[in-house]
Formats: sequence, structure tokens, C-alpha cells
Amino acid sequence: MRKWREFEIKLETLTPFRIGGERPIPGTTDVDSPVVRVGDRIVVQSTSLKGAYRAELERYLIDTSYDKANKKWKDQWTQPCIPADERSISNDEKKLVDQGIYKYCCSYPGFDSSICPICYLLGARGLTGFASVPFLNMEIEEIARLQFIGIDRVTGVSAKGRIGKFEVIPEGNTFKGNLYLLQEDDILGWKFGKSRSLSDSNGDKWLESGEWTEEKIIKDLIIDRLQNLQFFGGFKSRGCGRVRITVTPVN
Ligand SMILES: [Zn+2]
Repeated sequence: MRKWREFEIKLETLTPFRIGGERPIPGTTDVDSPVVRVGDRIVVQSTSLKGAYRAELERYLIDTSYDKANKKWKDQWTQPCIPADERSISNDEKKLVDQGIYKYCCSYPGFDSSICPICYLLGARGLTGFASVPFLNMEIEEIARLQFIGIDRVTGVSAKGRIGKFEVIPEGNTFKGNLYLLQEDDILGWKFGKSRSLSDSNGDKWLESGEWTEEKIIKDLIIDRLQNLQFFGGFKSRGCGRVRITVTPVN
């Protein structure tokens, strides 16, 4: 049997907020940049939340576990990976790998590598993780349309063709969704917070010191990390994206 723990994620918008959706088919709407929807529902898509959460986890592990002065990991098994391999990594990211701050993506099988804490939660290439990051649904759908205007540098009035309409969610709105965390899979013998028996990898080495208890992982790597996301979504340079996230255990 599989057992799950459940956490409610509530996101409140403290400023206008938007996660951009696909560009509309010309002629179907007068909005140039809509917000993302699933069907007719306005949502925060899970991939956006997962990406922001992952970046926050990377920063946290580097801040707490990497000795920047001596350029050494205090616990090398907590070194996060960049989800890219030697072929797909960018030149700028490669510098971070060369400096030893990141490693290449965790993948399974991977005979001489281990799985980093982030991939333990969110999944590595070829191996599922323990957490399932949800879509967040908007509680009461409310949307504003704003206009941006490009000013002609010579005439000082709005430039032809440089006017566009975009959608934002006004401040004071709420999105909600539940994160599921696999607690136990008795067929595979997986238990959250414990190292998995994986034949073709060094596995979850970071858990072997015993420092990371189940409750510490839940507090430090799940609840506190999600709640620490203070800016999220697009148009930050236009004053959007300040949020408050609250995570509450359901069971
Ligand atoms: Zn990883």
C-alpha cells in the first residue's frame, strides 16, 4: 500500500500577479498577453511553482551547506544538481559546475553518482521523487486588463504598434492546491526520510548521516522553503509578483 501526507499550499497576491499563458491566436481576443489557464480556470501551473521551489531549494542548500570562503561543501551529498547534462548545460551554468557549486543532473541509473536532496523530493532523470507539486487554483476568479504603451522617443506620444494589453490578477487574491508527499510504499520498500535501496546508483547518500530526520526535511525543505518564496511569476520589473505562501499540514 502507498501512504501519502498532504499539505495545503495557499498563495496570496500582495501586488498584481501574473504567470503568462500562451500567446493567443491573432483575431480571437484583444489581449496580447493573457494569464495562464487550464480550460477556463485561472491557475498557477505546477511547472512554474516547481521551478521556483526548486530554485529556492538550491539556494538554501548552497547557503547552508557550502563553505563559500573555502569553496568546499560541508556535506558533499547535499550539493544540488542543475537539471541539465554535459550536452544541454549553458556556458554560464557550466561555470557553476566547474566551481563545484552545482553538479550535473542526477540521473538513474548513475553508477558513480548519488541523488541530491532536491531530486529526492522532486524526482531525478529516470527516477521518481517523493513530492507531487500541485496546480494552484484561483479561489474567486478576478482579473484586470492593463495596457502598456511604448512612447515614441521623438514625438513623445504613444508609438504606433507599441501598445499592448496584458492580464494581471489584482492583489488580495488567493490560489490554493494540495501537495502530496509519498510517506511509504511497502512494495518498493520506500519510506520518506530514509535512503532507498537502489541497485544502479549510490542512492540517497545525504540521508545516511542521520542528520536529516523526516520532520527536519518537512520543515526545512518543504514548509519553510515554499513559505520563503516572496516573489513569484512574471512582470516583476513592472511591480508584479509579490506573494505570501502558507503551507499547512492536512493530515
Ligand atoms: Zn539532483
